[in-house]
Amino acid sequence: MIVVLVGPAGVGKGSIVRGLLSERADFVLSVSATTREPRDSETDGVEYYFVSDEQFDRMIEDKQMLEWAWVFGLNRYGTPKKPVDKLQAEGKTVILEIDLGGARQIMKTAPEAIQIFIAPPNFDELQQRLRGRGTETEEQLAARLKTAKDELKAQDEFDQVFINDELDKTTQEVLDYILRRKEENE
Ligand code: 5GP
Repeated sequence: MIVVLVGPAGVGKGSIVRGLLSERADFVLSVSATTREPRDSETDGVEYYFVSDEQFDRMIEDKQMLEWAWVFGLNRYGTPKKPVDKLQAEGKTVILEIDLGGARQIMKTAPEAIQIFIAPPNFDELQQRLRGRGTETEEQLAARLKTAKDELKAQDEFDQVFINDELDKTTQEVLDYILRRKEENE
């Protein structure tokens, strides 16, 4: 089972995923490849596989990507296919925390995947959260907020939308929804 989790940067997807993983030993987060530079706190192979443009080109050519996209117009991010196949074969629920473009590719190539959108209570709050995080430059912030507007317009394409107004509550709602969908599938 693949679960796609989409939502604007700063909406709290990362925290929701951490909550899901701590609740369920059979849930695994897919580690993406990216051409973005690692942040100080990040380790290669943990948050992402940090790769060069050439390596990313090769992964696409070799058809190693389940999906990939330019994100914020600055860097490419993609889901390596092999680990996802392996985890699925092991019966794991694989979470993909990806952008809208990537989710749309999965809607086509894996229509059985559960598609979830996480929305902020409102745009001002999203802006504040993103600024408060302090991990982006002004230029990066502007790119993320512009992308956020486009993403928010696309909510209807998803199976279910959750408004992240309170982290623990939202995490539980997302978990309940995934488990219900899994049950329906069995
Ligand atoms: P960040 O640079 O903050 O780590 O991630 C930025 C955004 O990249 C995330 O919010 C997520 O939407 C997107 N992203 C991360 N990994 C992938 C991936 O494998 N594929 C796609 N399409 N987008 C990704």
